[in-house]
Amino acid sequence: MTSSRLVRALPVAIAAVLALAGGQAVAAPAPDAAARVVTYDASGAAEFKDAVTKGAAVWNQSVKNVQLKPVTSGQRANLRVVADNGWPRAQVTALGSGTIYFGRQAVDEGHNTVRIASHEMGHILGLPDVKPGPCSSLMSGASAGTSCTNANPNAAEKAEVEDAFALLESSAATTAAYKD
Ligand SMILES: [Zn+2]
Repeated sequence: MTSSRLVRALPVAIAAVLALAGGQAVAAPAPDAAARVVTYDASGAAEFKDAVTKGAAVWNQSVKNVQLKPVTSGQRANLRVVADNGWPRAQVTALGSGTIYFGRQAVDEGHNTVRIASHEMGHILGLPDVKPGPCSSLMSGASAGTSCTNANPNAAEKAEVEDAFALLESSAATTAAYKD
């Protein structure tokens, strides 16, 4: 075995050791084998990087068929998050891919930054706006008012994302643009 092959084999060996440890070294259950990873690049998210991290964590705790992970340096991310002075919006180029514009306008008006991050990620994961709607709905967005700090998708929203990624292999790529 050459040294480069050894290096490539190491993560597998480490994973095997962790598995033998009975999962004690792993905080969370192993993701579903069918899980699709959406990598995100928050390097352009300025003061909203922490909200992006928290929004990704919300989705990672809410669904198992897709997981959001920070992109490895030098790799091209599926999702780019950039801060700007407009209204928050998402450009979806395909299920699990696109760009989120983390608009300061809504933040300045008092909307919760983690809810904004989670909501826009919901678009990237295939969800449309459902407005007007209650605070319990993530995709009701700004229509729930500035007092709404709920960043969690409801049961129906979780199920829709699970179904979309379960069907990913057979679904055609779609493009969409959502303002809010
Ligand atoms: Zn929206």
